[in-house]
Amino acid sequence: MSVRVRIAPSPTGDPHVGTAYIGLINYCFAKRHGGKFILRVEDTDQTRCTPESAQAIYASLRWLGLNYDEGPDVGGDRGPYVQSERVKLDLYRKFAEQLVDQGDAYYCFCSARELDVMRKRQQANGEPIMYDRRHRGIDRNEARERAAKGEPYVVRMKAPLNGEFVYRDRLRKQPVVKGWKEIDDQVLLKSDGWPTYHLAAVVDDHLMGITHVIRAEEWLNSLPKHIWLNERLGFTAPEYVHVGLLRNADKSKISKRKNPTSLLWYRRQGFLPEALLNFLALLGHSHPEGKEKFSVEELAAVFDLDRINVAGPVFDLAKLRHLQGQWFRELSAERMKEEIHRAVDARIDQLLPMLKERMACGGDYLTQVEPFYADQVQPHADDLIPKGWDKADATAVLAEVQKLVKSYLAGDNPVWDAPSVETLLREAMTERSLVPEGATDAQRKGAALWQPKGLFMLLRVAATGRKESPPLFDTLAAIGGLKLVERLGHAQLKLR
Ligand code: GLU
Repeated sequence: MSVRVRIAPSPTGDPHVGTAYIGLINYCFAKRHGGKFILRVEDTDQTRCTPESAQAIYASLRWLGLNYDEGPDVGGDRGPYVQSERVKLDLYRKFAEQLVDQGDAYYCFCSARELDVMRKRQQANGEPIMYDRRHRGIDRNEARERAAKGEPYVVRMKAPLNGEFVYRDRLRKQPVVKGWKEIDDQVLLKSDGWPTYHLAAVVDDHLMGITHVIRAEEWLNSLPKHIWLNERLGFTAPEYVHVGLLRNADKSKISKRKNPTSLLWYRRQGFLPEALLNFLALLGHSHPEGKEKFSVEELAAVFDLDRINVAGPVFDLAKLRHLQGQWFRELSAERMKEEIHRAVDARIDQLLPMLKERMACGGDYLTQVEPFYADQVQPHADDLIPKGWDKADATAVLAEVQKLVKSYLAGDNPVWDAPSVETLLREAMTERSLVPEGATDAQRKGAALWQPKGLFMLLRVAATGRKESPPLFDTLAAIGGLKLVERLGHAQLKLR
């Protein structure tokens, strides 16, 4: 059997570092076994997917050198490789209908309102939230007649009601066990012919001849449905293997609040693809000779799927920087110069309008730009204490602003540009500078700290390490939210 593996990202937002991680593992597995590595775009959720995002995935994988043998922009004989194009060919409906014919799926006519009432009732009764299978017994001919007359419907899988699902994933000591009764009658297809992820993924893996589905463990919950669908559709199921999710330092699933997750960010920051891949490789798979620095091709030659670390590898940016340094310093002078030019070019259009006010010649750019590139800045403790404040005041305000920015970044798609940073800070200042009637002296003093004069100086110094900078909100926006949080923390340490 010749190995065929795929990654199947959904093109929502920026290309994700998790895609690179899973891509790397699949790529190495394919190379090790002389197989094929395939890219499929899963864009059945048309409310969230965009063509721009798909393009960014292709570009990022190319940048990383994770070249796929078959995929949307390179072709192949099992295409098309974008699910929305496959929907247009009506590839999925016949499989859903096959299941209906076999009595393994059924038409469900519940309206959104009905489902909503169902959900609320379950919530109120403390029951698990799932479809209550009310149309499970519907007569298939009658249902098809209703559908033919234009009544909206979905096709749902008729999941077993009893027994257990058991699967051995080669990376896990314990088998995956789930009671069927906890598993929903999953929607497989909607009346407009659009499949859901579950049906589309299983059908496509089959039609594309995928032999191993190597993906992140967040899909373990879907495994019973996928194995069942393979069985009922008469497919030979691929082997499913679930690797650990990349994690933040606190072990939560990697998120952009705590780590940069966009591959575009790494590219813009000047990380070398070789270093990023080397770093991701070490998270998942140690080198048999204990080497730390190695290339993807080197890894592919010794890659062993059974050695994959499933214990939630922690993504540590400091480690990545360390490794990046090793790769960078070994570049040829030519390549290094190119990298430097690229790093400058990547941000000059954004930064120059803001910096030019403080420049008299080209070289001044280099001194002005430092705080926007530096990993860390080193403010003097004295500069962090505005006139009339003491250490404790400055520390308390830094901590408060840090908390504020953190919780803002934790919101849904927070915008981080100069106007939004300004609104965020000014609102906080208005609120905190109010002196309540009958306030104590301490309260008065606390409120006085939230005036622009001292506060803006404090933030400027903490964020840039300097007493002079371009306008504050532009500066904070250009530094970036995550970096600002880090620097506000670092400034507090400087005050200790
Ligand atoms: N479309 C899924 C994702 O966005 C793919 C999951 C799978 O590999 O089956 O990650």
